Amino acid sequence: MFNRRDFLKLLGVGAYSMTQLSDLEKMTSALGTSPEMPVLFLGHGSPMNAIEENQFVSGFRKVAATLPKPNLIICISAHWFTKGTKVTAMPNPPTIHDFGGFPKELFDVQYPAKGSPEGAKQTKEALHPTLVELDETWGLDHGAWSVIKHLYPKADVPVIQLSIDYMQGPRYHYELAQRLKTLRSKGVLIIGSGNIVHNLGLVDFKNFDKDNYGFDWAVEARETVNAHLLNGNTEALINYQKLSKAVQLAVPSPDHYLPLIYTLGLKGKTDKLELFNDKCVAGSLSMTSVKIG
Ligand code: ZN
Repeated sequence: MFNRRDFLKLLGVGAYSMTQLSDLEKMTSALGTSPEMPVLFLGHGSPMNAIEENQFVSGFRKVAATLPKPNLIICISAHWFTKGTKVTAMPNPPTIHDFGGFPKELFDVQYPAKGSPEGAKQTKEALHPTLVELDETWGLDHGAWSVIKHLYPKADVPVIQLSIDYMQGPRYHYELAQRLKTLRSKGVLIIGSGNIVHNLGLVDFKNFDKDNYGFDWAVEARETVNAHLLNGNTEALINYQKLSKAVQLAVPSPDHYLPLIYTLGLKGKTDKLELFNDKCVAGSLSMTSVKIG
């Protein structure tokens, strides 16, 4: 078998001592052989998923088990829309309970992952020339912690959040996300957290526990978006406002959809794409999640 050591011999470094050789190997692996991190879009659904045991939570765990351990997570959450783009830069982001009407048990959840002032700076640099504000006021909202908690229950990976500029449309976000691609080869896991089908006004609360329950239009919208995802029709997904009436009902506002656009902006030409947790819930929501790479 021909390995790197043989290759180094061919390059005339056969006379190096073992120590020098291993230094050389370390150097060559530091120079670009580190594998690219996959990118995730996670359908977060109800905040109760943070404390419930169900098929979606187990789907999150299963996908986490397939990932190399990241050294940083950047989360683009549906629940942080701002004027301009911000990135959390505090060393210890607080757990934000940004919802109402849920049991105390949910308000008691703390997700004590560290932040990363350095990661925030690198994210800001990667997004140059777009101005990115280093934020000290946010933290981790439930779009982030309710799902990341299942991926890394020990909270041992630092997490920062990148906000979504509400002044901008889907193509802007798609192009902005592309500038973060370089971070994938630095051990950074980038997660979009939202929901593809998300019409809160039409939720059937009486049937929240019914398995894979979607209204006809919700099922149709899910199938349309899934087909475009699997066929690589990114343009159609960026221009979602031109898709069917069912898709318009599924995406009545951009907040929960745009995190998907971020993950698509990070997709390389050779990356494969798979769906998981691909079910409808409560009539007008879907939990469909995506793993890229
Ligand atoms: Zn949400």
